[in-house]
Amino acid sequence: QHTLEIKDLYASVETKEGRKQILKGVNLTVHSGETHAIMGPNGSGKSTLAYTLAGHPKYEVDSGQALLDGVDILKQTPDERAKEGLFLAMQYPVEVPGVSMTNFLRTAKTEVDGKAPSIRTWTKELNEAMKRLRMDPKFAMRSVNEGFSGGEKKRAEVLQLELLKPKFAILDETDSGLDVDALRIVSEGVNRAKENTDLGILMVTHYTRILKYIKPDIVHVFADGHFVKTGGPELADELEENGYDEYLPEGSTESA
Ligand code: ADP
Ligand code: MG
Ligand code: MG
Repeated sequence: QHTLEIKDLYASVETKEGRKQILKGVNLTVHSGETHAIMGPNGSGKSTLAYTLAGHPKYEVDSGQALLDGVDILKQTPDERAKEGLFLAMQYPVEVPGVSMTNFLRTAKTEVDGKAPSIRTWTKELNEAMKRLRMDPKFAMRSVNEGFSGGEKKRAEVLQLELLKPKFAILDETDSGLDVDALRIVSEGVNRAKENTDLGILMVTHYTRILKYIKPDIVHVFADGHFVKTGGPELADELEENGYDEYLPEGSTESA
């Protein structure tokens, strides 16, 4: 049983117009086996929260903590955080030309576990995971995400999730841009990880449709850099019905 505890987190990003504080007092506790949906209007800072937790260098922590079993991961390098058991599936996965999927995954697995997996079990596990995600075996030899369609990139993220077996996973709009079949396949992968490893999930999503496939225990509304409301699954139905209008800043023209 593990705990991820975010305490009064403030973080900023350097923009062309100067430094801008995006995260303004984020508080959240997630335990193993729990699925938290993080929903909110565009531009509210959901991806910034994901990147800040994962250690993206563009995002600077102003104050606060993120304790994984009591260890403040915000003081760690991104690869130390991964070793600690944190995984981020990015909203826009990065292409890595010249590095094959198979090499990338094996290197990541070796890093995270602190030792290389045995060739035989690894190959078997990789092939089986790809098959379950309906990925063509040829993908293993292709460069990471290079020329992948949107749906293929999201499957590749879930493949990593299944193989690396983190304690906590942040899924940043893993549902966006997927057709119904791909959404189901990707969701099944996440649910397998949840069942097999008692994964704790922070599922960032703008839309409610993924919640039919991955059932949240707790639903949060994130607006203007922090959580403004928390409830059960019924809160997602309410958002589906009413949108994010009541959570948008005064005078905002953005519609949810
Ligand atoms: P969300 O994921 O909720 O749509 P983001 O975290 O992507 O929101 O963005 C929150 C705000 O921070 C937006 O106003 C966005 O323009 C700004 N922002 C985020 N990352 C950067 C960046 N790297 N450079 C400049 N502005 C950024
Ligand atoms: Mg966005
Ligand atoms: Mg985002």
